[in-house]
Amino acid sequence: LVEIRGVHKSYSGLEVLHNISLTVEPGQVVALLGPSGSGKSTLLRAINHLETIDAGEITIDGEFIGYEQRGGVLHELPEKKVLERRTQVGMVFQNFNLFPHLTALENIIEAPIALKRMNKAAATERALTLLARVGLADRADHYPRQLSGGQQQRVAIARALALDPGVLLFDEPTSALDPELVGEVLDVIRGLAQSGTTLIIVTHEMGFAAEVADQVVFLDRGRIVEQGSPSQVLRNPQHARTRDFLNKVL
Ligand code: ATP
Ligand code: MG
Repeated sequence: LVEIRGVHKSYSGLEVLHNISLTVEPGQVVALLGPSGSGKSTLLRAINHLETIDAGEITIDGEFIGYEQRGGVLHELPEKKVLERRTQVGMVFQNFNLFPHLTALENIIEAPIALKRMNKAAATERALTLLARVGLADRADHYPRQLSGGQQQRVAIARALALDPGVLLFDEPTSALDPELVGEVLDVIRGLAQSGTTLIIVTHEMGFAAEVADQVVFLDRGRIVEQGSPSQVLRNPQHARTRDFLNKVL
C-alpha cells in the first residue's frame, strides 16, 4: 500500500508538487500522465526518496523510506538506512541505467547481495528465474552494450524485481526505445500488472495506460487535475487541461 498525503515540493522557490495525495492499493496499477515539467518524475523520485519533500508524507506499507518520526516531526534518515528501506521500492528509468561494466546477471544480483545480504548462489538462482521471466534466459552473461535497448530495459525490470519490492515505479520506460522495441517492454509490464504487482507508471503510451491501469492520474503544473478510472479520465475528461493534453498526445 502506497500512501501519499499532502505532498509539497519546491526547487528554490518554484513549486513543483502542490498538495499531492494518492493512495495505491496492493496490486493496483496507476498511470501517471501530464505534460513535460508537470512534476511526474519528481513525484516518482519522492516516493523512492531520491528527492526530499517539503511537506506531507509518503509511506509504503506504513513505513517512510527516507524519514522517521520523532516527537511528531519527520527527520531525514542517514543514507545507509535509506538504502536499506529503499529496497521496498523498485525503479525503472527511461534510460535503463544498467551498470555498464557488469553483465545482465551481475546487474541483477548486485543489490540483493549488497543490501539484503543474500548469498551469491541464492541471488544467482533468483536472477536466472527473473531473466527467464523477462524473456532473457539466454542473455545472462551479456554486457549492456551487447543488448538492444528493449533487452536492456527488460534486464532493468528484472533488476528492480530482484529486491521483491512492494511497489515498482516506471518513469517513461519505453520513451528511449526504437518503436519496434516498445512492444516487448510493454509486454513484460503487462505481465507484471496481470500477476498483481503494484505499479506506478509514467507513460505517454495512452493505449497501454487505458488497458492496464486501474487508476489514471493527470498532473499539470505540480497539481493533480484529474484522477479516476481510465474510462473516466481518458475517455470522459472533465477538465479542459486534461482534454488539451489528451488531444495533443493521442
Ligand atoms: P518530463 O515529462 O519532461 O519528464 P516531468 O513531469 O517528469 O517532465 P519533472 O522532471 O518532475 O517533470 O520536473 C518538474 C519541474 O521541476 C520542472 O519545472 C523542472 O524544471 C523542475 N526540476 C526538476 N528537477 C529539478 C532540480 N533538481 N532542480 C531544480 N528544478 C528541478
Ligand atoms: Mg520526467
